[in-house]
Amino acid sequence: RFQVVEQGPPIEVFQKNKLFLEDTFQNKVNLTVGAYRDENGKPWVLPVVRKVEKQIAADDTLLHEYLPVLGMEQFSAASVSMLLGEDSPVIASGRAFGVQTLSGTGGLRVGAEFLNRHLKYNTFYYSQPTWENHHLVFVRSGFPNAREYRYWDAKTRAIDFDGLIEDLRSAPADSVVLLHACAHNPTGIDPTHDQWEKIADVMEERKLFPFFDSAYQGFASGDLDKDAWAVRYFIKRGFELVCAQSYAKNFGLYNERVGNLTVVTSDAALVPALKSQLTWVVRSIYSNPPAHGARVVATVLSDKALFDQWREHIKTMSSRVIQMREALRAELIKLGTPGSWEHIVKQIGLFSFTGLTARQVAHLIQEYHIYLLNSGRINICGLNPGNVQYVARAIHDAVTK
Ligand code: PMP
Repeated sequence: RFQVVEQGPPIEVFQKNKLFLEDTFQNKVNLTVGAYRDENGKPWVLPVVRKVEKQIAADDTLLHEYLPVLGMEQFSAASVSMLLGEDSPVIASGRAFGVQTLSGTGGLRVGAEFLNRHLKYNTFYYSQPTWENHHLVFVRSGFPNAREYRYWDAKTRAIDFDGLIEDLRSAPADSVVLLHACAHNPTGIDPTHDQWEKIADVMEERKLFPFFDSAYQGFASGDLDKDAWAVRYFIKRGFELVCAQSYAKNFGLYNERVGNLTVVTSDAALVPALKSQLTWVVRSIYSNPPAHGARVVATVLSDKALFDQWREHIKTMSSRVIQMREALRAELIKLGTPGSWEHIVKQIGLFSFTGLTARQVAHLIQEYHIYLLNSGRINICGLNPGNVQYVARAIHDAVTK
């Protein structure tokens, strides 16, 4: 019976990562998967995470009982507070709550199914380009209509703001608009505060529903409040919204699948009904979430000393990324590589959308064993003081060929 199943296409980011691992070349470089690497190119378990994990392992009172369907209350409350700010009026008035989800992807999946099933939304808009999984998650959650809004202008290597506004202006009422809260993936370019205000104007006028995706809070700038500015601004403007949060990057908890879906509504009296339907959405997909990662995050977020340590860690990570952006640009300028490389330092977050063409990408992989996505996106953390010159020389060669 299984003969009917055809081979599916590979997922580019995992495929390129595998090719990298199998490559035996000594100076190979991995600029594919969006995960942090330290200055020696090694993964980093945050010391505060290790510390809390040891405490958890030593605690004989902890059990492996099921969590509630909507997850660990202490964790989701701490997540809402981190996103909205602890003094947010929507928390004080009981109009915001959280649902623990399977990392950011799970938050997107649960949120999308909920909006489609219970609010009867059928159309969603995503930026062109966006994280490659957005489209699939929304379509598989029940959204029949997927539409793009313009975001990236390849010529100026900057945001195509006029295009974005024009596309949102022509969106049908009651469309869901997926917005990256900060550190837009893959371009690394976020709207300015002025631009966010204009986006909010159009969305208000056109009655569009904001779905924020916050995968990099704190990781982008090193400042949790700054990276949540857009979400908080929309709430100040009176929008109802949902926001998927991921702790993969900012806690380095990639494989623990720790996330949250924050929901903000106009009326606290609606919360019990919303929670009850979200319970059924989760129940039908995975019944209830795992505890370990959520315990780690909840412990850190609710203890002042641990929280301060974690804030130092996110500063360490974000400042290393910024240093590597500067180092790569400096090397390219030193080599006299044609073109402007300012965008590398203007972009924020893990990624740089380099502007390299598919031909140049192929050249880097084949001739230099430097792995990156066909779109030209690189993970800046794959760079370190030991390989940045090598990468810059390779880019120079690819560009001038
Ligand atoms: N959204 C964006 C924009 C991302 O970059 C990522 C991670 N690559 C995610 C969501 C979800 O990641 P995870 O499910 O691992 O939290």
